Amino acid sequence: MLTRLTPTLRALLSQYQQNLPPEHYREFVEHIESLSAGFVRELEAVPAGVERARRVHQLMEGAMKDLGPDQPSCRAGCSACCHLEVEITREEGMVLAARVKKGHPIDRERLAQQAARERQGPEWQRKEQPSNRCVFLGQNGACTVYTDRPASCRKLLVISHPVECATADGKVQAITIPMAEVLLSTVISMPGVEFMSLSKGVSLALDAP
Ligand code: SF4
Repeated sequence: MLTRLTPTLRALLSQYQQNLPPEHYREFVEHIESLSAGFVRELEAVPAGVERARRVHQLMEGAMKDLGPDQPSCRAGCSACCHLEVEITREEGMVLAARVKKGHPIDRERLAQQAARERQGPEWQRKEQPSNRCVFLGQNGACTVYTDRPASCRKLLVISHPVECATADGKVQAITIPMAEVLLSTVISMPGVEFMSLSKGVSLALDAP
């Protein structure tokens, strides 16, 4: 049962509700719920924690295989999206913190400053500012934890020119991948799953004994 929806899935459902006959909309919702139930079965088969976060990443890779006709314009090194307030589960925070605990270098001071911000605070609107850089973003503009990057990072692709992502009022056209939205909505609807900023999730996991 989906109790929390990603903003993209909510917008998609609203659009379909407005444009489809009621019976077709009902069928669409039932289809979404059925896909979600399948994801729940997959996720309940693994223990909560790091293992479940890794299973979410595997499932997200599968969901991202169906991009439809859209060709992403995202390129290595265009890292504007790594200056946004990325949301992760607490379990994904544990995966990233494990890397840090094993010696992966990050700017702990910047992590703490970002974690202390109010959610969706005004600083994030300033986009490509040094203070907004994800602590896992390398100097060459590449993610330094690519294989462990959170589900939110995996599903963010655009078709607009990269310069739009880097501009404060740029017209960003994200690719909507319904399966990815159903998966993430399923994950955040699961009992006990906490969803928070990347900086907060990693900080909490680093502070845990
Ligand atoms: S985890 Fe990697 S992909 Fe995600 S925001 Fe940070 S640097 Fe970018």
